[in-house]
Amino acid sequence: MTSRGIAPLAALLLLCGPLRAQDPYAAQRDLMVRTQIEDRGVRDPEVLRVLRTVPRHLFMPEEVRKLAYEDRPVRIGYGQTISQPYIVGFMTELLAPARNHKVLEIGTGSGYQAAVLSALCKQVYSIEIVPELARSASATLSKLGYRNVTVRLGDGYRGWPEQAPFDRIVLTAAPPQIPQALLDELAPGGKLVAPVGGSLLGQELVVVDKALDGQLKQRSVLPVMFVPMVHQ
Ligand code: SAH
Repeated sequence: MTSRGIAPLAALLLLCGPLRAQDPYAAQRDLMVRTQIEDRGVRDPEVLRVLRTVPRHLFMPEEVRKLAYEDRPVRIGYGQTISQPYIVGFMTELLAPARNHKVLEIGTGSGYQAAVLSALCKQVYSIEIVPELARSASATLSKLGYRNVTVRLGDGYRGWPEQAPFDRIVLTAAPPQIPQALLDELAPGGKLVAPVGGSLLGQELVVVDKALDGQLKQRSVLPVMFVPMVHQ
């Protein structure tokens, strides 16, 4: 490297040093993305970039924060869990989010998946059925500055007709079948990703594509285990 190249590099290191020092979890997060997500085949550079930036630990209750970057789902209270990092990465890549997309999420939980989508899309609408989770996820998201996410307390089986249609829909709780209201709220050319299956065992992660003429095409991509999507 020439001496002309060293000065800007030193300035950059000086700038980055204190920023990274403020987040003691940054190194753990980098390692999580590399070993749990990238090495297992998630390649979308934007998805990987966002997963490196969203502070997953801040979406968890303090007692379990030390588990935030481990290769597993973590309990967030009220019988619910935040999905394993790989599953979040894999589902986000399957969803193929873009800057101009309006996205609906069913099952806000901790708000972590909504934050990831918020950094990749234009607007995120998220529905949560447990009042305490809807409240705390909403508070976390606004505290961390994710301004393009709206959380609503309600039953995801009914969808969000006032905001439909959606370019992308993601379910993070498993219904026995994909609710018709959600298929109706998917825009032509849209994509829906959901765990589907009545019991804990035997769920499949399913991708539904809606063609421009409204035709639906469905494929299963992975056996999974999500909390059930409950009825109010
Ligand atoms: N996306 C979440 C993971 C949530 S776990 C995250 O990133 O943390 C699934 C969530 O779906 C739970 O919080 C559960 O309360 C919620 N849920 C279950 N049935 C629901 C329904 N019918 N409508 C909306 N949310 C539901």
